[in-house]
Amino acid sequence: STATDPIRATLFPGDGIGPEIAESVKQVFREAEVPIEWEEHYVGDQIDPRTQSFLTWESLESVRQNKVGLKGPMATPIGKGHRSLNLTLRKELNLYANVRPCYSLPGYKTRYDDVNLITIRENTEGEYSGLEHQVVRGVVESLKIITRQASLRVAEYAFHYAKAHGRERVSVIHKANIMQKTDGLFLKCCREVAEKYPEIKYEEAVIDNCCMMLVKNPALFDVLVMPNLYGDIISDLCAGLIGGLGLTPSLNIGEGGIALAEAVHGSAPDIAGKDLTSKLTPVVLETLAREWDRTLTVMGAGLVFLLTRPMENLANPTALLLSSVSMLRHLELHDKAEQIQNAILNTIAEGKYRTADLGGKSSTTDFTKAICDHL
Ligand code: NAD
Repeated sequence: STATDPIRATLFPGDGIGPEIAESVKQVFREAEVPIEWEEHYVGDQIDPRTQSFLTWESLESVRQNKVGLKGPMATPIGKGHRSLNLTLRKELNLYANVRPCYSLPGYKTRYDDVNLITIRENTEGEYSGLEHQVVRGVVESLKIITRQASLRVAEYAFHYAKAHGRERVSVIHKANIMQKTDGLFLKCCREVAEKYPEIKYEEAVIDNCCMMLVKNPALFDVLVMPNLYGDIISDLCAGLIGGLGLTPSLNIGEGGIALAEAVHGSAPDIAGKDLTSKLTPVVLETLAREWDRTLTVMGAGLVFLLTRPMENLANPTALLLSSVSMLRHLELHDKAEQIQNAILNTIAEGKYRTADLGGKSSTTDFTKAICDHL
């Protein structure tokens, strides 16, 4: 390919608020003239026997070929005979590390203004191996799998990340005092890798104590690496330190150089699809204009405006936008990444356009427009 060829990237808009925030990313990328060509894939409504999941084999193949993608949140339909969508992606694409940066946003006041953390979550095993069964009635068992291979791989990634990004410390978060075999092995692997990186300070913290310290003083930590379940919990805790799930991005690192960016949050069914009425507004207004005389039209328009105000799309697209920025950095499109990140941060800092989760009144659409204006 030549320098002018666009880069192909897979896009999964996902469920719930997914399509709304994915639209926001597409719009910002268009405005910033990012040389990316999206290959959009939707989650099907039938199980693909080749993947045993609602995700088709073609969707997985698209990520394997492009080696880079962005995914919106996916809600796994409840029922038997299929695998969770997120688990399918993680397993099939071998997405072994999930990197979640979390830093205080300038101009958006929270309890702390100096949060600057990176959590690195092992993404393929632990309690998320999906191995659960009933032993006898009233007794169930879940297998927590920790392997030397997966632990070394994620530890290696954490130290490599710390070194490449000029970070000083890596802390491994564990509960090896109780989970002696599983977390014990994870810890042992981290110690082994730490020896190869004498320039990076290595620390260990027990998960419960780590939670207390994070809430008391987040500056005590730098890069944190941990098994799957702890990573899930700690990264939401970290999101809470800077203003919530609407803000925190992540990047999944897979075998063979695959990178799949996604927001930390889920499909937010409580606020999803609220833009339906605002989409209908022009249609309703047009009908009113045709059918009624002018006075009634004005009154009708006012009524529709009032009724639809709180029904606009509410989702904060920042987390997915910042995930797309991570994707651009991974592709070494640093100028575009910087430009878009600055536009997002400046829009939030300015405070004129903010979504409801940050105490503002802007819809997803208005907030996105404001970001485009800042570009
Ligand atoms: P959630 O993250 O969807 O929502 C938690 C809370 O945060 C909700 O009140 C929601 O409104 C709010 N929130 C989340 N993202 C927001 C945003 N961008 N802007 C404003 N507010 C936001 O978690 P949940 O409700 O536990 O899960 C809902 C569904 O999402 C479930 O089906 C779950 O399995 C799925 N899920 C998917 C992923 C993923 O695809 N990676 C991650 C987590 C949950």
